Amino acid sequence: MKVGILAVQGDFEAHAATLARVGVEHVFVRTPRDLEDVDAVILPGGESTTQWKFLVEEGLEESLREFGVRGGPMFGTCAGAILLARDVRNPKQQSLGLADISVIRNAYGRQLASEVRHGFTAISAEPIEMVFIRAPIIECVGRDVEVLAKSEGKPVLIQQGPLLIATFHPELTSSTTVHEYFLRMARHHLAKERVSSNSVAQPAVSAGPVEPR
Ligand code: GLN
Repeated sequence: MKVGILAVQGDFEAHAATLARVGVEHVFVRTPRDLEDVDAVILPGGESTTQWKFLVEEGLEESLREFGVRGGPMFGTCAGAILLARDVRNPKQQSLGLADISVIRNAYGRQLASEVRHGFTAISAEPIEMVFIRAPIIECVGRDVEVLAKSEGKPVLIQQGPLLIATFHPELTSSTTVHEYFLRMARHHLAKERVSSNSVAQPAVSAGPVEPR
């Protein structure tokens, strides 16, 4: 498995370090060509306005959207969450629009702009450390969105099919729980894809004798 990490701005190095800790190969994505042989993509935290400007300049906006529309696994943290959202406010901003969520940027106010919380999630028995840095609030989620964790009453970790979104920064902690969850999701998704493309490729008439089970 090879993971592409969007590396136009933000804390992409921290995601690379986390993947290295769990022994997964990565490439930094700066042009559409860098996406050619990756199995999954991570969109890091940073400044979403700046990231979006680079995406448009490099034509990455289209290739990332295509990757997502084809069902490629994607994981966005903080600014990455904003890039994936269907609707972005405060101020209104363009995005990839792949995840059925509506987000409000920098919504925690000045005092609460950055803080560390510990919270339970649906992905592990232990609470995890959640580092929030000028995080967006997920205001609304669509019907296909599964909320995996809430904090202060708002979703902070969500999944929609092969998309995983955190408004906090698991890459800035020593825990690899969220990344490992994403990698499991991605592997599961890729295995399913393989099965379905095999079954399309084999017409029923050429199927050999049925193996006893
Ligand atoms: N405040 C940033 C934005 O709106 C996101 C901050 C982050 O990624 N830590 O783009």
